[in-house]
Amino acid sequence: MTRDLTVTEVRLTPILVADPPLLNTQGVHQPYTPRLIVEVVTADGVTGLGETYGDTKYLELARPLADRLTGRQITDVNALFGLDIAVDPARVDSSVDVGGLRGVLSADKLRLSVLSAFEVACLDALGKALGLPVHALLGGKVRDSVEYSAYLFYKWAGHPKGVAGEKDDWGAALDPAGVVEQARRFKERHGFTSFKLKGGVFPPEQEIAAVRALADAFPGHPLRLDPNGAWSVETSLRVAAELGGLLEYLEDPALGTPAMAEVAARTDVPLATNMCVTTFAEIEEAFTRGAVQVVLSDHHYWGGLRNTQRLAAICHAFGVGVSMHSNTHLGISLAAMTHVAATVADLDHACDSHYPWQSEDVLAERLTFTGGRIAVSDAPGLGVELDRDELARLHRRWTEDDGALRDRDDAAAMRVAEPDWVTPTMPRW
Ligand SMILES: [Mg+2]
Repeated sequence: MTRDLTVTEVRLTPILVADPPLLNTQGVHQPYTPRLIVEVVTADGVTGLGETYGDTKYLELARPLADRLTGRQITDVNALFGLDIAVDPARVDSSVDVGGLRGVLSADKLRLSVLSAFEVACLDALGKALGLPVHALLGGKVRDSVEYSAYLFYKWAGHPKGVAGEKDDWGAALDPAGVVEQARRFKERHGFTSFKLKGGVFPPEQEIAAVRALADAFPGHPLRLDPNGAWSVETSLRVAAELGGLLEYLEDPALGTPAMAEVAARTDVPLATNMCVTTFAEIEEAFTRGAVQVVLSDHHYWGGLRNTQRLAAICHAFGVGVSMHSNTHLGISLAAMTHVAATVADLDHACDSHYPWQSEDVLAERLTFTGGRIAVSDAPGLGVELDRDELARLHRRWTEDDGALRDRDDAAAMRVAEPDWVTPTMPRW
């Protein structure tokens, strides 16, 4: 049977997805966050799904890319990465993305972040056309399920008064007891046994106390703390000394490779990053200086699933661990993360995922965590189906937005509650 794998249509649907008031060092999550859903349709009527960041600068690149993809084969993914799509320098010269939470934003990284959604959509379509799961297209799974960690956040009970937004049932978590209670619910609801706390919100002493409380409540469970580069080298070393053996790793305690290298040289606590190693160009300096012991890959900005496998191979060669970073994402990306994670032999740490915080999804059936793990689907493609009504509803929300929420800005969201809030200068402590 011959198949026509020609791309006849590429649909781009920007959406706004409900997000709880999760705190980080830059501010707080806005009530709705932008995502882009990509659909690649073949001549045979097969549709592949992809997902990536939905801020304006990503959408601007996605449109010309979608036009260039039409008429090509879904098997033509390597050529996709060779397409010369110009990036407006004004979109990257701010040098950081979302206050630096995703590391430095280069033109190449922006391009890869968009391409990743197209790569995933092409792989999903190819898998559906061939009757093979995406992991099989990546060389096959080496595990049947992928472990994720509970992603704990300091949070408010609700978004500030007068701000539109969905209610959540998690309540506030602003002290060690609140963090432990949140962890308990994560464990109850999803079975997670490894916990990551997003830090950099309160002075380090308070966050040290929260990690100690977690260690007391969940003895033997792997714990991580991620202040997004909010600490100086000295503060990082102090926290490392105080928490020492309680931590599986410390994630981006200080900002940038030189500071991370200095911390790493003076502590035995492993350092992880999704901020100073976010592109292939950043690997050499960080690895040769011993700045990081674990790289948290994000298939969006590393440029897709095959690049994630390449990154894992490089990490292996340098004796550096690999796991996965998460930004607010939906089920398409979680499925993609799970497929690629299933193919990486040296995945030694539970992956991060915001998914439990997302009350909305564009999938007909949500993915579920059992024992903190997602089963690797053997269904064709990613193994997920779109809920078109829900996609349309979330797109309507994006269309009706006056532009205020189309670009993620955690500092702006914080200013609603605290008008004097300014984006903190790093290091904060
Ligand atoms: Mg991080």
